[in-house]
Amino acid sequence: MNLYRLVYSSQANSELRPEDLKDISVVSEKNNLADGITGLLCYSNLMFLQILEGEHEQINKTYHRIVGDKRHHTPILIECVPTQNRLFEVWSMQTISLSDLADSQINTLILKYSGSPKFKPNGMNPGQCLNFMKEVANIYQLSDSLVIDF
Ligand code: FAD
Repeated sequence: MNLYRLVYSSQANSELRPEDLKDISVVSEKNNLADGITGLLCYSNLMFLQILEGEHEQINKTYHRIVGDKRHHTPILIECVPTQNRLFEVWSMQTISLSDLADSQINTLILKYSGSPKFKPNGMNPGQCLNFMKEVANIYQLSDSLVIDF
């Protein structure tokens, strides 16, 4: 089975603007749709946490393109593993800025899955990252009256 999941974190450049996030989101959705990639990109506190799901070759190619992007730095590969199924099959890439969600819910989630009250995905293990992102996705979907059944 050639379905893989790749998870990494990185640090945004301090001058990253909301327009950059929008650009990244638009380009990612377009490219990933063409490449059969799905996933989720979370942003907060100048940190990114992203999951890419798809064929190993496509994931690899996309990840290498992403790590060369000057809008972020210090990528940390958290996991790249074969998987039975996608978790985010409905999104070619959904970008969620955590500040757009309710503070109390997000702060509780950050505390639930990490040792820090701040969003520091480079200190989270693969299981913590996955669970955190699933819950973020559900909060995001719930705000749209939809629930993803994981
Ligand atoms: P080009 O537009 O030709 O880019 C040329 C080079 O410039 C690349 O190195 C590109 O990374 C960089 N670049 C492009 N725009 C800017 C800018 N405004 N400022 C600084 N450098 C820039 N792409 C995907 O296809 N799928 C994803 O899931 C995805 N996730 C991303 C997650 C993060 C956190 C970031 C920062 C970027 C992500 N991207 C993603 C964007 C990716 O890095 C590429 O910019 C994009 O895929 C287009 O690459 P290109 O070489 O075809 O385009």
